[in-house]
Order: sequence, then C-alpha cells, then structure tokens
Amino acid sequence: ERILSGEANIEDESLEQTIRPQLLETYIGQDQVKKNLSIYIEAAKNRQETLDHVLLYGPPGLGKTTLAAVIANEMGVNLRTTAGPAIERAGDLAAILTALEPGDVLFIDEIHRLPRAIEEVLYPAMEDFCLDIVIGTGPSARSVRLDLPPFTLVGATTRAGAISAPLRDRFGVLSRLEYYNIEQLQEIVNRSADIFNTEIDDSGAAEIARRSRGTPRIANRLLRRVRDYAQVKGNGDITLPIAQASLELLQVDQLGLDHIDHKLLRGIIERFRGGPVGLDTIAASIGEESSTIEDVYEPYLLQIGFLQRTPRGRIATHLVYEHFNLEVPE
Ligand code: ADP
Repeated sequence: ERILSGEANIEDESLEQTIRPQLLETYIGQDQVKKNLSIYIEAAKNRQETLDHVLLYGPPGLGKTTLAAVIANEMGVNLRTTAGPAIERAGDLAAILTALEPGDVLFIDEIHRLPRAIEEVLYPAMEDFCLDIVIGTGPSARSVRLDLPPFTLVGATTRAGAISAPLRDRFGVLSRLEYYNIEQLQEIVNRSADIFNTEIDDSGAAEIARRSRGTPRIANRLLRRVRDYAQVKGNGDITLPIAQASLELLQVDQLGLDHIDHKLLRGIIERFRGGPVGLDTIAASIGEESSTIEDVYEPYLLQIGFLQRTPRGRIATHLVYEHFNLEVPE
C-alpha cells in the first residue's frame, strides 16, 4: 500500500467522511472552479432549475467526490453516489435513475469506466430526462420511454481524454481540478488537525504540505501518520522536528517522492542517459504497468517539472539531477 498514492485506501474511506468540507466556502483552493460553480449554482437556484451536468476531472485525491457533495449541499438536494465499474447492466443504471428525486445530484465516479452500451442509456437521460427501455426480446421486443425527474449528473474522471466525445459533449460544465499549492495544503492540514483535536504549529503543517504531492488526500493521510508519531515519540503536538522525523521514517522525501519515484527517475538517468525513453520501456525496466506509471506516478513528476513528455518519450530534466545531487550532463 503506497502511502503517497492519491487513491483512497480503506482507512481513508472510513475517516474521510468526517473531514470533508460541506460548503464551497470551506472547500479550500480550486478558486476558478469554485467561482464558476458558485455563479451557476446561484443562477440555477434563482430560476428554480436543476444545475447543468458537471464533469470534474483531475488526478485522484484532489477533491472530486468532495466537490460533488458540496454541489448537492449548495443546491439543497440529495446526493446519490455510484461508480462506473459498479454499473454493469443497463438495468442497474435505470434503477438508480428512476429512484432519483427531482433536483438530485447523481455522482458517478470513474465515469470513464462505464461500458459503452450503458453510456448510451445515459444520453437521453442527460438530455431529455428520459429513459428508452427495451421490453421483451425477439420480434415482440418494443421500446418504451420513461420520464425521469430532472437531475444533475456530476461525473468524475482522472483523465478528460478517457471519456468518449458524445458523453463529454453532454456536460454543460467541464471543470479541471488542479494540484494544490503548499499554502492551500497547509490550510487543509490545519483544518483537519483541528477536527482531530491535534495541536500543530505552522512549520509542522508546512512540512506535511510540502511532501503531499499537491494532493489533499495524501496531506490528510500523512497528517494521520505524523499524529501517531507525535503521540508515541512526543507529547502529541506536531512540530517541525516531529513532522520531519516521522516523514523520514515513512521514506517520503522533501518533495513528496518515495522509493518508487526514485527508482523510476534514477532508472531514466542511469539506464537511458536521461531519456527520451518510451513509457513502455520505463515500465518494463521497473516492473510496473505503463498505465500505472501514466496515471499514478507520472502526473506529479510532470507537474513539478521533473519529467517532460515528448513524442519520443520521457525526459528527466535538470531538476532530477539536482535533486539527487548529480552532475547535469551537457
Ligand atoms: P477524489 O474524489 O478527487 O479522489 P476526494 O473528494 O475523495 O478526492 O478528496 C479526498 C480527501 O481530500 C477528502 O477526504 C477531503 O477531506 C480532502 N479534500 C479534497 N479536496 C479538498 C478541499 N478543497 N478542501 C479540503 N479538503 C479537501
């Protein structure tokens, strides 16, 4: 279980409910997204209409699920939650849609993993709030149209490119969530520490923020580990030395990189002279799936400028050499 993964583990899932912000005002960062959404929400409320369908995309752990709940709260409606892989048959989706109450927000996580045939059931539901259902089989089969209550679909995906164009086109609002900066992560850490009743000073919070890969979920997870350490090795309060010592123990370096990042980056430098090297070659050389590297490890390394993506493959930039105290080649 990688401590720096943006994906939720079982512990995250059980603890995250209590620390999720409920309103736009307490949802930290993503200012552009929030600004737009707050206008759309207010306008929809004034017209007493449902909010347009919203597609949220960005790496795991940046707050897509949280934002879906915030939208439902702000609209004053229920949130129904499901995920692409959980919907196997058209009937599963029909059951969910027909159970909605007018105005509800339906959140579909990992919407890019909906089977194509089911996606097609979603089109008329999104456009006209109706379902075309085929009853019976063979020559006696016929299609009936069912009206649905108006609803807002909030879809989440890690990559906008992963969803089909016809589905993407049916969303009125497309919002990309960005990695958080250190100040925002520090605010998130402080807020969560407050909820956990843990004392934390600014330098301790900043240290956790710096090593959280721009990702709130990771910040909260590191905070929990540092809090354990503070309880056992200190008086329970989180300070800079406590944060540093516990993160060292977790083998999370100053930039939030771990041994897998190190292996990947060093591999590119040592075996491929810094690149360019193809994704599949990197994957094979460190024994990982290409898709895992592309979806999980690489986005943050691209974000901090350690990797560059070129048509001929990945290049390790001078920042990587500097991070490892190596001489930058010509
Ligand atoms: P995603 O759905 O993108 O994987 P989540 O919405 O589940 O991410 O967020 C992961 C955790 O990070 C949540 O428990 C939440 O507490 C925290 N979080 C995410 N975004 C924010 C934010 N903007 N402000 C405060 N906490 C956040």
